[in-house]
Amino acid sequence: MIDKEPSITVGVQRGDTVDFRLRDTFYTPAGEAFPAGEYRACPASDGRGVSVGGRVFDTLRLLPSRPESLFDLPHVTIGVDFHWQRQECQTFCGILQLLAHGTTVHAVNEVPLETYLTSVISSEMSATSSLELLKAHAVVSRSWLLAQLPRLSGRPAPVRSFSRGEETPDEIVCWYDRDDHTLFDVCADDHCQRYQGLTRVATPYVSRAVAETRGEVLMYGGEVCDARFSKCCGGVSERFENCWGPEPHDYLQPVYDAPDDRLRVDLTREQEAERFIDSRPDVFCHTADAAILSQVLNSYDRETPDFFRWQVRYSARELSALVARRSGIDFGEITRLEPLRRGPSGRIVSLRIVGTRCEKTVGKELYIRRILSPSHLYSSAFVVRRSGTDFILDGAGWGHGVGMCQIGAAVMAHRGYDYRAILRHYYPGAGLDCYYR
Ligand SMILES: [Zn+2]
Ligand SMILES: [Zn+2]
Repeated sequence: MIDKEPSITVGVQRGDTVDFRLRDTFYTPAGEAFPAGEYRACPASDGRGVSVGGRVFDTLRLLPSRPESLFDLPHVTIGVDFHWQRQECQTFCGILQLLAHGTTVHAVNEVPLETYLTSVISSEMSATSSLELLKAHAVVSRSWLLAQLPRLSGRPAPVRSFSRGEETPDEIVCWYDRDDHTLFDVCADDHCQRYQGLTRVATPYVSRAVAETRGEVLMYGGEVCDARFSKCCGGVSERFENCWGPEPHDYLQPVYDAPDDRLRVDLTREQEAERFIDSRPDVFCHTADAAILSQVLNSYDRETPDFFRWQVRYSARELSALVARRSGIDFGEITRLEPLRRGPSGRIVSLRIVGTRCEKTVGKELYIRRILSPSHLYSSAFVVRRSGTDFILDGAGWGHGVGMCQIGAAVMAHRGYDYRAILRHYYPGAGLDCYYR
């Protein structure tokens, strides 16, 4: 437990230069005024600090003159590396920091944690989301955040492996976790949690969900839970260690996404995984109800409505070129994709790729999703089939599948479960506690 609400620093934009627009007067901590207007920050010519308006600062920290003072970042890239990557103008409250690291300028927003959460949940969820779904999400996002940031939770950094990889001539095993932020706490993209400042206006429900759960987090064994979540589990949720480092998390265990959450299939077995992925099980996240789906999916996400069960088809030539480009490995012509190990959700953890020039085993799930798609496959829970020389991937779910299934949670809330019941379902054994008042 801590005394008061912490602040958080969010890396929103980076580039050779960063343009920003102050809508009001801002001040440096030394009291120097920056009047409303447009500015450009670039790295100082001697490589030390950031240059704005011909002046050089170590870090330029701009404090709003009034709590409601706003600033804009006109060219923020969202959805980096995802199929919907685009630029937009975003608006923020709080403190703006500009700092240079090498030849890159970073725009960092410093805001109170609950304000950050309100924005994250507004970005992540739609304005039509139900209150209980939003409350569940508020607790999950707050828990995840505090667990990532020992600086905020006041406990020593957990011994964890980030983006650790092992590469031998025969095998590549790598995973991706938050590892590359040294200049701020979190970034604004899906790598951490999608944050767009005030760009998507908080609906009264989001503000209420955050306020009514203020400081509330999931706890397990005296520690804040590393509460993961993804779009759609596909029927069964995945284990932490099949997506990230090898440390098991007792509250991130496979859950059958239905009222009776007893695990009734063993998707680590190839035949059962095939049968399950080919089926349309009656689970929470199996819904075509547009009103429910639109609670979780923003408009750009609704461009992909087929995530519960999906199919991708490549010719052998397309697949070989794609994998060569995405992995940097020349397999020659790929002749076989063979799942070697699946997790309890059916997600492939270890995949054998056989080509005419070489063969290798690759994992974990995100690496597999990255090299088998120009952006990302929806998930690594797929079955490989051949049709002539084509490869057909029939898959299930969207995302890593660990922890809360957002679509499933939306359906649960719609059916009358409250946020505590939703959290109990997706994080077995975890309790709820208040971390600060
Ligand atoms: Zn990040
Ligand atoms: Zn689900």
